[in-house]
Amino acid sequence: MRPTKVKLYCPNCGYSEDYTRLLSSCPSCGETYLDAVYELQSPLNWPAALRDRPPTMWRFHELLPIRDLSKIVSLGEGGTPLIKSQNFGAMLGLNHLYIKDERQGPTGSFKDRQAALAISSIREYDINELVVASTGNVAIAYSAYAARAGVELTAFTISSVPPEKMREVTLYGTELVKVTGTYDQAKQVARRFAESKGLPFDRGVKSIAAKESMKTIAFEIAEELGKIYGPTPSGRPWRTPDWYIQAVSGGLGPVGILKAFREMEQFGLSEGMPKLGNIQSSGCDPMVRAYKAGLEEAPPFINPETRIATVATDVPGIAYKILREALLTHGGVFESVSDEEAYEALKMVARLDGFSVEPATALAFAGLIKLVRDHIIHPDEIVVVNCTGHTFPVEKHILGGELVRDVDVTPAARREVPQEGLLSALEAVDQFVGRVLVIEDDLGAAQLMMRILRAHGVEDLLHAPNGEAGVRMVERYQPHLVVLDLMMPGMDGFGVLDYMRSHEDYRDIPVVVVTAKDLTNEERDRLSGQVQGLLQKGSFIDDATLQDLIDEKLS
Ligand SMILES: *Cc1c(COP(=O)(O)O)cnc(C)c1O
Ligand SMILES: [Zn+2]
Repeated sequence: MRPTKVKLYCPNCGYSEDYTRLLSSCPSCGETYLDAVYELQSPLNWPAALRDRPPTMWRFHELLPIRDLSKIVSLGEGGTPLIKSQNFGAMLGLNHLYIKDERQGPTGSFKDRQAALAISSIREYDINELVVASTGNVAIAYSAYAARAGVELTAFTISSVPPEKMREVTLYGTELVKVTGTYDQAKQVARRFAESKGLPFDRGVKSIAAKESMKTIAFEIAEELGKIYGPTPSGRPWRTPDWYIQAVSGGLGPVGILKAFREMEQFGLSEGMPKLGNIQSSGCDPMVRAYKAGLEEAPPFINPETRIATVATDVPGIAYKILREALLTHGGVFESVSDEEAYEALKMVARLDGFSVEPATALAFAGLIKLVRDHIIHPDEIVVVNCTGHTFPVEKHILGGELVRDVDVTPAARREVPQEGLLSALEAVDQFVGRVLVIEDDLGAAQLMMRILRAHGVEDLLHAPNGEAGVRMVERYQPHLVVLDLMMPGMDGFGVLDYMRSHEDYRDIPVVVVTAKDLTNEERDRLSGQVQGLLQKGSFIDDATLQDLIDEKLS
């Protein structure tokens, strides 16, 4: 006997029945947002039982709305790795940053889980046709699973979806309709089409299968974190991260994640809820605006203007309400970042950690940068970023025109003194494309610094291993920026700085000072007005992490 019984539940009126048919509204009150709930018939025994199951999302089938496991349509979805970030996390000063690598799904995004359960679910009820509306990835994932299941799929999408993605959709044999308009308009066209043909229409966050599928991401995260950090103080085997960060469009992902953590708490698997970092593009951020304005419902976003089609949901539905309530109860944020910030972050995670992600995914990383910079996320918190999708074809506008850079070295831009912190100092660096000299006696620290500078597009990099060499290289190479370690044997950073400031030729070269210790007031006075930025070494990397990095390089 299955240890769980699945029920259909109406959160509006409390109506409930056994989950034996696909309903699109509550038979009692008409509510269209329904839930699956699970009644335990016998212990789940998950940590032990899961060990021997193949690493797909179906390991968690007891908490999924599927009865006949033989109807499952699978391409091996789920079971994606949780990868600890190396350099990106070090750059941000985060000691526990993990990337849930959903790019490794069969069609390269976390929509694979949704498609697998949705298509399996309609197969269980002998439905062979389906209509979906999509900003790209749902169409791709559903197409693959529909093809495998012999389901006839019609997908409606918006014209800003990159042509490469559209080609992939048609490759699977899906009927594709491109709607010129907003995503909400495309959804309406799709719904009318489905109604006129009497076909089932996938209802996104209102689809029970879609929402339930997303839970498997959270189960995997908690299970992995349990292995890394051990049981909770109260003896629960799995771990809830402090943060779950995701780029949000319709909000299906975080809604499913929340439900999963509630169930894990209910069934004794983990405890507590994560804070959600819901990141939207500032060109289409209806949820962020509504939340910041304290609204209970999110009004439509008029004239979306983002090049990131994947997250172009202009009319947020019920997901906003659910996420808002969760944020008010458990903490977390709605935040937006620009497309450009996302492209910058995209390049950083690629160059620093080796992840090629799609622009929508990069929104989450850009959001993370912002949250760290704003001190909302702390160095010792356990942070998981959902790396939602891969960028197989590099979209033109990411690299296009990139070889020509706008450089602004107006005096005003140079004089601005950034706050402490590697990121803000690097912001100043971003103003230059010139030559950067790193004067640092610790080779590992120098290498990491140069690596991060390189990720910021600095190509002309020099390294001096001590103060004396630093001075000689300043004279010989006239760098546009100096990154200077304060504590060095022989001539220290103060010495280098004094020398530079006393020579007319070098006086105006900006200097970012790096120091491993807190400065005395006297030292601060010596530096004041002399440097462009001050980095606390410990704020982006501690010695142990650094040693790990170096050891890894050598092994
Ligand atoms: C669908 C999608 C999102 C947005 O997910 P929601 O949880 O539905 O808001 C973000 N990134 C990628 C790559 C996606 O495919
Ligand atoms: Zn009801």
